[in-house]
Amino acid sequence: MKKNPNLEILFHKAQIQKRINKMGCSISKNFNGEIPILVCVLNGSFIFFADLVRSLSIDCEIDFLKVSSYQGRKTTGRIILEKDISLNVYGRHIIIVEDIIDSGKTVNFLLERFKKKNCLSISIVTMLKKSNKFNFPLINEYIGFEVKQEFVVGYGLDYNQRFRNLEAIYILN
Ligand code: 5GP
Ligand code: MG
Repeated sequence: MKKNPNLEILFHKAQIQKRINKMGCSISKNFNGEIPILVCVLNGSFIFFADLVRSLSIDCEIDFLKVSSYQGRKTTGRIILEKDISLNVYGRHIIIVEDIIDSGKTVNFLLERFKKKNCLSISIVTMLKKSNKFNFPLINEYIGFEVKQEFVVGYGLDYNQRFRNLEAIYILN
């Protein structure tokens, strides 16, 4: 892809892969002997999800859901479930895989949904987490990298659907 002067590198491909391998190791260790269901939160998590599941040394099942709340660089604050999962999660270990947690509203919306389904456990994995004053206390949380309050793109993350295919993570200026 052509170089874009508005993109400032934040995490290189190698850094991301190294971090994911570590996260994969600790998830595999914590769920040793279990077969968790990893839930990819579309669209932003699709690349992270593909790398994360391949870094696991345990057996797992996968499913996908889709939520939306963002328009351009701003959240509308209203979360819409556009596509639900198809697997039955009753009595299962659920691992929700997010691209980025900002206000925590999306992840909280998903947690509330899964809590009603009598899962055995619910964990959250996020590639990025913004330092934010509106933090929800999260249980069983795995974080790739903490970032500042900047708008980031690449490695699945978009700006109006663009930049998802970049291999690294960038700040969009
Ligand atoms: P929250 O509900 O935690 O405020 O926002 C979560 C969702 O907003 C993320 O899953 C992601 O889709 C989007 N989002 C939040 N911050 C960013 C960002 O810096 N860049 C991009 N591309 N999306 C973001
Ligand atoms: Mg997301």
